Formats: sequence, C-alpha cells, structure tokens
Amino acid sequence: MRWTEFALKKAGASTILEFQRAQGLPETGEADLITSRRLFDYLVGYQYHRMEPRETLYQVAQRYETTIQAIWAGNGGLPPGGPVPGQVIRVPLPCPVVPWDAPFESALEPVFLDGLHARCRWLSAEELAHTPGGRPIRALRLGTGPKRILMTAGHHGNEWITSLLLWLLLEAYVTAIRDEAGLFGFAARGLFRRTTLCVVPLANPDGVDLVCGAATAAQFEAARVLAATQPQVPFPSGWKANGAGVDLNLNYPARWEEAVRIKAAAGVTAPGPRDYPGAAPLDQPESRALYDFTRRFSPHILAAFHAQGGEIYAADAQGRLPDETLARRMAAASGYRLCEPAPESANGGLRDWFMEEYHRPGYTIEIGRGENPLPLSDVPKLYEEILPIFALLLAFG
Ligand SMILES: [Zn+2]
Repeated sequence: MRWTEFALKKAGASTILEFQRAQGLPETGEADLITSRRLFDYLVGYQYHRMEPRETLYQVAQRYETTIQAIWAGNGGLPPGGPVPGQVIRVPLPCPVVPWDAPFESALEPVFLDGLHARCRWLSAEELAHTPGGRPIRALRLGTGPKRILMTAGHHGNEWITSLLLWLLLEAYVTAIRDEAGLFGFAARGLFRRTTLCVVPLANPDGVDLVCGAATAAQFEAARVLAATQPQVPFPSGWKANGAGVDLNLNYPARWEEAVRIKAAAGVTAPGPRDYPGAAPLDQPESRALYDFTRRFSPHILAAFHAQGGEIYAADAQGRLPDETLARRMAAASGYRLCEPAPESANGGLRDWFMEEYHRPGYTIEIGRGENPLPLSDVPKLYEEILPIFALLLAFG
C-alpha cells in the first residue's frame, strides 16, 4: 500500500510540498517526521487534540472545522460537561474516511475501521477468523434494535468493488447517525434504534488481494500455478476463489453435492481460479467463519452483495419469496431486475444455505453491469444504485 499517496489524495493535495503549504508545515518537500504525522491524520481522517486550560469544545470545533456534535460522537468516556484540561480527544478532519477513488485492498480495512469509529463510537468490530494468507475477516456491528440484519460482500476475489461499496455505505450511515440526518429519506437514528446491523465487508481477503495486486510474491505464485488448471480464465482478473482455489460461495452446506456434480460436469474437479466447491462443505476457514457467525447472530435477513448483472435474487430453491414487498421495493429503487438465479448456480451459496436453514428472506444483489472486476470509475454510479437497497433493508428488513 502506498500510504503517502493515499493520504495525500484524501487531503486533496497532489504533492507533499502542496500538502505542507496547505497545512502550514515547514516546506521541505519530503515526508519528514512532522509531515508524516499529519499525513497519518489524513489517512485515518481524525486528529488527536489535547485540551488546553480554559479552552472550550466550541473553540476546538471551530479550529478543526467540525461540530461539537461530531466530537461527542467520536469520543467515548467524556465526562458530562465536556473534556477537562489536559484530556486528549479525537477530532474528525473535514475529509471522508473511505475514499471513492483509491484502489482497494484488505490492508485498508483497519484504517477505515479506525476512522469510522472516530466518527461514530457506537461502531464495533470483531475478527471472525484469520485466513491461511494471514488476513483477518471482520464483522462490524452498528445499532441497538431487535431486528438483526447481516450484509456480506467480497466473497469473490474479482468482486472487490462490493467491499469498497459496503464501506462507503457504512460511512454514509455512520455520518447520518452522527448528524441526526436522513439516509435515503429515512431518519438514521431511527434505523439505528430499530436494527442491529452486522456487516462482513470482506469475506475473502486472500482472493481480493490477489486481484488487487496486494498478495505476496509467494501467494501470487501459488495462485498462478492453480490458475493453470483453467487456462481460459484470465489471471488474476478472473480469479473468484480464495487463496486455496476454492470458490467460497459454493462451499456452504446447501445442496453442495449438486454444486460439485454441476461443476464437475463443466470440467472443474480441482482447486483453481473459480467454480471449485472444495473437498467438503465448510472445509475452508472463510466459509466456516461466515457460517458460524451467521448461526451465532441469527439474522432476520441476509443480503449478500456480489457483482455483476444489475439483478436481485430473492427467491429460495423452491421459488418462494419470503418478503416479496421488500424485494420489489429494492428493485424499483435501484433499477435492478428482480429475477431467479439460474438453477445451476443456486447451490452451495451462503444465501442458499441461509434460506434453507432459517426460511427467512435472503437476497443476492448483483451490483453493476460490465465485466468483473468492475473499474473504480464505476463506484459513484454503483453507490447511487445500492444506497436505496441498503436503506430499504434497514427500514423494512
Ligand atoms: Zn460473486
């Protein structure tokens, strides 16, 4: 990760010298210690501030171009009446935490998490597992309500854009909660009190990093060997599997044998870039982690974000729609088509298992149109398409 470039982008500067000039720092043109520290603030989107004697919270908010409300939202454990002199508080900077135009990779997740937590301290996170490639799978939690909603993204390596979009949606939600504002017309604080939202934005970090150019040389080489089993799949851009060459969304215990049979008939019987369901259901740490977490959280509703096609799958294997009204609302607001998945791709998925096990609404949202991986330049458009889906799931899920 080129952190300096990333931080400069967030600060709206193209060179270090420009950044130093805008920040009133010594203009050395180099990432010296003081410049690096300020760059790090922009990376996470907040600064630490030590309260001076007789300094008011209003003065701090004015100085950093923020609001008292935003400072309260980002700091736990402040005494009633405000921080005392000498106390160190987090102050948000006037830049987004999750950028729209920087390439994604899994190493950004802890940075986003830190930054969003400083925007809204009610956001919490837990690590569900570590992948064989050494990367954590995180579940984020927000809200206090009885309605439990689970959203997942990044199951497939070349669909990393779904992960970035869920982080962007989470930032929109966090910001709206903080500012007591609306989210696609719904009062965010109301959604927060009504629901408990859990998001697993990146279910397959090893596969995503492979496609994003963030795998180690050894991981890239191992994947390249596996990719040779399916030479027609472009490498690494066609890679959907995890680091071990298993397609995670075929690895769940729902008609898994059927998935094996269909994929074998199509010629896939070994680990590779896509379509291999594994040697047994849940034999991969990523799918096992998602399965265990789903059982523990027991969501009333599941939304799995994939790419691409501009389609929403809402029916179960028998063609039943547990909540047709919500499915139609989401389709209407996003412009996506409500349709049934092809029978050969309705086996072994997280949503397939969830609907079979719980008989509750589960949705696959195939965002965008084009060829995976969808380009970063599609992000603003995709965001507008799926923001209403995100809000409707919280409001009516
Ligand atoms: Zn997918």
